[in-house]
This record gives sequence, C-alpha cells and structure tokens, in this order.
Amino acid sequence: MRVLFLTKRDLRTMADTDGLTQLYNRRSFDLLLQRALQEALREQTRIALIMLDLDHFKAYNDYYGHPAGDLALQRIAGVLASHPRRDLDFAARLGGEEFALVLRNPDSAYLVSTCESIRRKICDELAIEHLKNPAQVMTASLGASFSNASDTTASLYQRADLALYRAKANGRNRVEID
Ligand code: GH3
Ligand code: MG
Ligand code: MG
Repeated sequence: MRVLFLTKRDLRTMADTDGLTQLYNRRSFDLLLQRALQEALREQTRIALIMLDLDHFKAYNDYYGHPAGDLALQRIAGVLASHPRRDLDFAARLGGEEFALVLRNPDSAYLVSTCESIRRKICDELAIEHLKNPAQVMTASLGASFSNASDTTASLYQRADLALYRAKANGRNRVEID
C-alpha cells in the first residue's frame, strides 16, 4: 500500500540512486559522467575519474556474512558521500563493491590527496575488522585517470579501470594514478 504514497519525485530518486547506499547508481553515473566529460571538453578543462574497489570483499562476505557486508558497503559509501567535495563533483556505486568519484577540473595534487585521503579514511578511521585481509581491516584499492581532449566516457573509464587493476596487482590498499 505504501507505494501508493510515493510521489513522482520519490520514484525518480529511487531510479537514480542505489537502494543500499543512496549514492548515484550505475545508470545515473553513466549519464553524469557523459555530461561532465562534455562540459570539460567544451570548457577546455579536464575531469578525473576515480574508481574504488574493496579488497578481498568476497572473503569478508563469506566470513562475516552478507548483512555485515552490506553494512560495510554503507559505511564506505558514507566516506565517499561525506568527503569534502567541490560543487558538481559526484560519487556513485557502480555495482557490488565498486564505487566511482568524478572530480571537475582537479590538479594532480588535489587528485592524489583526495584518493589518499579516502583510502586512509577507510582503513584507519573506519577500521572495519577484516581478518581475511592481510591488512586485518577493510581496505580499498583506487585507480584514477584524467580525461583528455580525445576521450570518450569509455576510453576514460578503461584507463581508470586499468589503474585500479594496477593498484590490485601491486598489493592492494593503494592508489594508482594513470
Ligand atoms: P579483490 O581484492 O581482487 O577485489 O577481491 P574481491 O573478493 O573483493 O572481489 P570479487 O569480485 O571476487 O568479490 C566481490 C564480492 O562482493 C562478491 C560478493 O560476495 C560481494 N558483493 C557484491 N555485491 C554485494 C552486495 O550488494 N552486498 C554484499 N554484502 N556483498 C556483495
Ligand atoms: Mg573487490
Ligand atoms: Mg570488484
């Protein structure tokens, strides 16, 4: 019955956001990334795409249970949502234990410090026990890339994803910038 009381706006919000974390969902992310990239090209600036993936999260779920996994995802989302951001920067949950953050017109130092600050907040401040992770707490790997004038969303995504892959391959709980 309750669904009858949902307004159009509620329904739109539900379609745009991820139910577990309230961050933008994949669908919104694709639209917002497209828009941000177009704007950057037009204004001859650049954006940065940061991809974040939790480390050994399958083992966390297996050991602590799915509800604990969900709670961890909500707390990680909280770090992303509350992270000091400039106007128009946005965070999204891409699916599973994978998140993204888009920064408009950052310089290298700002991008690096944002990534490092998020990484540290997760492992040092949240400090969620994770005995199946060598670090003994929940950690995340991050990969990031700047857009360039010839980028499509797909090519930018691919570079950020490759950087994330390098962060995993180089030992996890680290940041790699393309
Ligand atoms: P890696 O360090 O290489 O990233 O390993 P991983 O275990 O984190 O990666 P993998 O892709 O093997 O596992 C992702 C796991 O995320 C699988 C699934 O158990 C869990 N997962 C995906 N979506 C959800 C969700 O909505 N809730 C919970 N609790 N777990 C989820
Ligand atoms: Mg993972
Ligand atoms: Mg993953």
